[in-house]
Amino acid sequence: TPMADQERRFRASAVAAGRVATGPRRSPERPAVTDQFANTPDSDPALPAVRQWAREAVSRQPAPLTSEVLHSPDEVDRVVATARAAAPGWAARPAAERAGILREAARRLEDRRGDLLTVMAAEGGKTVGEADPEVSEAIDFARYYADRALELESGAAVDGARFEPDSLVLVTPPWNFPVAIPTGSVLASLAAGSAVIIKPAHPTPGCVEVAMSALWDAGVPREVLQVVRADESDTGKALVSHRDVDTVLLTGSIETARMFAEWRTEHPRGPRVLAETSGKNALVVTPAADLDLAVADLVRSAFGHAGQKCSAASLAILVGSVGTSERFRRQLVDAVSSLTVDWPTNLSATMGPVIEEPTDKLLRALTTLEPGETWLVEPRRLDDSGRLWSPGLKDGVRPGSLFHLTEVFGPVLGLMHARDLDEALALQNATAFGLTGGLHSLDDDEIAAWSEQVEVGNGYINRHTTGAIVQRQSFGGWKDSVVGPGAKAGGPNYVAQLGQWFPEGIAS
Ligand code: GLU
Repeated sequence: TPMADQERRFRASAVAAGRVATGPRRSPERPAVTDQFANTPDSDPALPAVRQWAREAVSRQPAPLTSEVLHSPDEVDRVVATARAAAPGWAARPAAERAGILREAARRLEDRRGDLLTVMAAEGGKTVGEADPEVSEAIDFARYYADRALELESGAAVDGARFEPDSLVLVTPPWNFPVAIPTGSVLASLAAGSAVIIKPAHPTPGCVEVAMSALWDAGVPREVLQVVRADESDTGKALVSHRDVDTVLLTGSIETARMFAEWRTEHPRGPRVLAETSGKNALVVTPAADLDLAVADLVRSAFGHAGQKCSAASLAILVGSVGTSERFRRQLVDAVSSLTVDWPTNLSATMGPVIEEPTDKLLRALTTLEPGETWLVEPRRLDDSGRLWSPGLKDGVRPGSLFHLTEVFGPVLGLMHARDLDEALALQNATAFGLTGGLHSLDDDEIAAWSEQVEVGNGYINRHTTGAIVQRQSFGGWKDSVVGPGAKAGGPNYVAQLGQWFPEGIAS
């Protein structure tokens, strides 16, 4: 298929450039030491002025929505035609000019940090502690992808291949990182030289509108970057399957990725759905771990944004004596029970609400146990909205059970037990997904063995499994956690995947 050809070409050039490991297991993309990048600092909550600023930000009402809602396939055609007409002019600008606009966007996003906290709290239920780093990440994407834009032009060719950007990229972001992910996907497309249409996730359109207005203010033309809402499935489908949309950049569930690819099977360019999808992530704790650190990192990985991250750890796999340590168990139970669950307007909240009243999978995970499981901390529904739940911790998750293998996307952590590291790795690798994973151990041999065998895109040693940092920990998975060639966000190949590579001297 054309898609497979395109992937092979991209891979071949990336492999030649030494950026993507060959073989079944993808190693992390390690930046060259010379390629240092200074990440944007988060706001410092130790400063009273920052706390005052944050308190005001989360108490404000967000501005009303302004983006167009598409109601028919004709309207979809019009928006797509506008983008296609604007695309050549954007692609023809010198990379230095596009990079300059992206750097200005970084400054404008920083100026809007407070407005972004307001809208993330109101729409996404994000606490300040979760939302503020998201703004920093969006700013990092702008500056990092500006550099990649320069590289693409100045390299003119990576190993004898010439890059031609996609004309039009459709971005379909998730609601759980309603600022960083949409902004990063859009900025990467703009850096490549593509026009963009972004369709926000249903619960969080205002987050996208505020972030995109910073990009418009920085000089991105309105026709080059359009925000549209399309909540009815036939307009959404018309947009996703449109023949003039070259690439769909999706962050969402594997089911959505497969549905999009299905809608685009007849597409002239092949499906070109590049997706970062679901995860079922575990953190392994061995007897050689610093157990105090392990407890802190488990709680952060499992319950940050109420567990609603693709990168969240929802399983702790306890090796040998860790599983029977009364002290470890006590500490973990205490840490989970002491989380402060509340709405983001309470600055002391350490865990916020879930995105909507839970149904199906999440409700089952919050209210029922599978055979062999027992609650160490039982989740409770805390208010009438149905969105505020206290966190859950359960022991005895069995190999092969639903909780072991499927994504829950909510505030429940399950414990599993393994005799040794090999057995722990087998449990960790048993899922169809491969997004993030963690190991807590201070033993070099264990670290080496785990690093060699774990099947994840982002493996973390003695650290929480969430909150990847642009450039230092480019983010993406393998196995069912990725669709497409799998270049990682915030990594060296992400922009370069948004186009086609032609051998030098051959015209497109
Ligand atoms: N990049 C985020 C992190 O490292 C996860 C993104 C997601 O949930 O899709 O935590």
